[in-house]
Amino acid sequence: MRDTFLPFSRPAITEQDIAAVGEVLRSGWITTGEKAVEFEQKFCEYFGCAGSVALSSATGAMHILLQALGISPGDEVVTASMTWVSTVNLIVLAGATPVFADIDKDTLMVTEESIKACISSRTRLIVPVHFAGAPADMDPIRKLALDKNIFLAEDAAHALGTEYKGEPVGKSGTSIFSFHPIKNITTGEGGMFCSDDQQLLERIRRLKFHGLGVDAYDRQMQGRSPQAQVIEPGYKYNMTDISAVLGIRQLHRLEAFNNKRTELALRYRERLSEVDEILPLVDPSYPMKHAWHLFVVRLDTDRAGISREEFMQALKEKNIGTGIHFVAVHLHKYYLESFGTHRGMLPATEWNSDRICSLPLFPDMTADDVDDVIDAIKKVLKNGTST
Ligand SMILES: *Cc1c(COP(=O)(O)O)cnc(C)c1O
Repeated sequence: MRDTFLPFSRPAITEQDIAAVGEVLRSGWITTGEKAVEFEQKFCEYFGCAGSVALSSATGAMHILLQALGISPGDEVVTASMTWVSTVNLIVLAGATPVFADIDKDTLMVTEESIKACISSRTRLIVPVHFAGAPADMDPIRKLALDKNIFLAEDAAHALGTEYKGEPVGKSGTSIFSFHPIKNITTGEGGMFCSDDQQLLERIRRLKFHGLGVDAYDRQMQGRSPQAQVIEPGYKYNMTDISAVLGIRQLHRLEAFNNKRTELALRYRERLSEVDEILPLVDPSYPMKHAWHLFVVRLDTDRAGISREEFMQALKEKNIGTGIHFVAVHLHKYYLESFGTHRGMLPATEWNSDRICSLPLFPDMTADDVDDVIDAIKKVLKNGTST
């Protein structure tokens, strides 16, 4: 057994990253400024998006997107229940109704068919979720949204470096990325709103900072124009330069990070093929490039003879950390008790919600670490079935 704990994720921070943050702290300008602008520009160059806005989180980005689109009571938003709770919470907080599309059982992503079944005359927005680093099948989803004249915004929190049919996620349409510490690059906390809709970008720039009409950072003035006017009431979701400098540095290393993640994931796949009780996710059949944000497996609980919770606990006792991405949102306490959701609504989502488990995956891991995880899994499952 390992003598040190292997967490399921750990950000890749170097001494140079720390020094760069130190420089910003010493510069006299630590909130949104040159670094944030540079990060937005580099992000656009890297992914080929028309415009981007750096924000304090992906959750904040989703909040002001809903506001910009005027999502309000009576409106419906179609998204996945197999996602992080933030999107669904915000839909509810906007007074609108989340409508959950079920997922493909083996890729964990919504499909054109599952979304179509959720569309009504009240549907205002569709939010597909790219899962674990693989892209959702966007061509048919884009066509559906266009045909029905419904806005489409991709939850790309897992999709930093993901490609769909040769095109990076974020390049066309509207996408939201996250830089939370477990994501493929981190700024501590942070998010990026990307869109090819210039009017929407302008709206997001305004709403991220009090609804002020002027966004320009002025070196001489050490801030924005004192004459800036509130065009509409806005929020406070700007990204600081302390975070942005990390983002710039991490973006340089994204490809190297993702290559390492891919190497580790392929080793997991190969070694897990010997373990019948573990079912990894399946790659989508369309052309894509995986960003390997997470290595998600499903525990075949019938075969294993132990529950997913017992499995995770036993791995923890062997110094292996794991996570759950995600407990289906419609099965959370609030949604069950106050929102009228129930088991049986979304069979593929629920089947996975009960069985998924994310194994350790981060760039600073080694092949030996993967082997430690596999050995621990084999031991745990052997004990599980024999007792
Ligand atoms: C992390 C995550 C978010 C939220 O990102 P934050 O930057 O933490 O707000 C949204 N959706 C998914 C699928 C995520 O994994």
